[in-house]
Amino acid sequence: MSNSLFADASQRLELAMKHLSISEDAIEYLKHPKSSLTVSIPVRMDNGSLRIFQGYRVRYDDTRGPGKGGVRYHPNVSLDEVQSLAFWMTFKCAAVNLPFGGAKGGITVNPKEISKLELERLSRGYIDAIADFIGPDIDIPAPDVYTNPTIMGWYMDQYSIIRRQLCPAVVTGKPLALGGSLGRDTATGTGAFFVIEAMMAKLDRAPTNTTVAVQGFGNAGIVVAELLSKAGYKVVAVSDSKGGIYAKKGLDIPSVRHFKESHKSIKAVYCKDTVCNIVEHDIITNEELLALEVDILIPAALENQITAANAKDIKAKYIFEVANGPVTSEADSVLEANGVQVFPDILVNAGGVTVSYFEWVQNRSGLYWTLDEVNQRLKQKMVEETEAIWKIARKLSISMRTAAYVHALARLGDALSAKGTRDYYVNGAHK
Ligand code: NAD
Repeated sequence: MSNSLFADASQRLELAMKHLSISEDAIEYLKHPKSSLTVSIPVRMDNGSLRIFQGYRVRYDDTRGPGKGGVRYHPNVSLDEVQSLAFWMTFKCAAVNLPFGGAKGGITVNPKEISKLELERLSRGYIDAIADFIGPDIDIPAPDVYTNPTIMGWYMDQYSIIRRQLCPAVVTGKPLALGGSLGRDTATGTGAFFVIEAMMAKLDRAPTNTTVAVQGFGNAGIVVAELLSKAGYKVVAVSDSKGGIYAKKGLDIPSVRHFKESHKSIKAVYCKDTVCNIVEHDIITNEELLALEVDILIPAALENQITAANAKDIKAKYIFEVANGPVTSEADSVLEANGVQVFPDILVNAGGVTVSYFEWVQNRSGLYWTLDEVNQRLKQKMVEETEAIWKIARKLSISMRTAAYVHALARLGDALSAKGTRDYYVNGAHK
């Protein structure tokens, strides 16, 4: 694969390979997506015209279980991006030991430019187009950027119509009323919070002496910002696609959230009931947010935010990647040389897919868990895998990113060798 984003993602694999003895066959296998589907989705628009949208679903690997990964609606979605995200999902599921492979989907669309009915027709059309490619034991979609539980509900309903039976386990991140799990909506941010807490304890840092900036005040960013602020961390800056705010004294995150939810924009406010007053703050750009002098920087928006061009400007001590792929592999080297420790996406944001797994388990067993049960199991998983990866990083003197890939690759290698090669030349008969 020659494309840049995917090539960049595979660099991580190359680094991890050096620390493991894993068969060349397994490595070669993991360098290629198992299958990639491109579909054209016809949608009747509200004005009667017909528009064709491009959609994708990539199943990168299913050695350890059915494919698992979200669906992204964004104008920049391309096959290369979806393949990279599916690659990350493969390693993420292995890093936190979920019985899933990696997959991802997407539609090239700006969902803000179409009506709700057009969005529903597009989402149902996407499922019509990929129905033979997904299933509870084949590949299970979920939400990602600009997709949400409502869309997952349409997916489930459309798939069930096609199959003529109710199939809740075909998609996760559904509304509660359609078999969703408690805690799924907050899982990515909550999981990231558990990772940060586990690492701060290892690094002997107290929350009250720790400042935080969050890029991307969306589903995941809001939750992690809110939990950190509740735990005593000082969240001094947050941003969305329109820009950011910075308050040296720290922001009142529940108030900023309240304002964002009621006004669709970010303001530094302190709210009492429904009345919000502006507090002292600076308006900053996203570039300025990334370069702030804070202890923890949390990119929680999109990929490729910290690159070779701006890595040298980063002053944070720790980066926790809540977004997928926010730091490029070139930037990794600059950050490492400057002593910035990066905690990788495949661990930090794995809370989302972990609770997706819990949702799939609940759908299949028919037994539903309380929010406490979900969060306890999530905490146990995130802390256990964070500590295991930390141990590998220390033992081999490697970055947390490479350690996470080593951890995942070991599991993938075990599964691939347990399965054996299924090529045309049985038992080396071709030699
Ligand atoms: P979201 O759409 O709810 O939020 C994204 C936020 O980023 C929005 O507030 C948007 O305004 C902001 N944003 C967009 N471009 C920006 C830019 N250039 N600078 C600053 N902010 C910008 O999406 P989300 O679900 O919170 O996902 C965010 C990231 O986390 C994505 O990379 C996604 O792949 C990753 N992730 C999400 C989940 C999940 O369960 N939601 C799970 C794993 C990983």
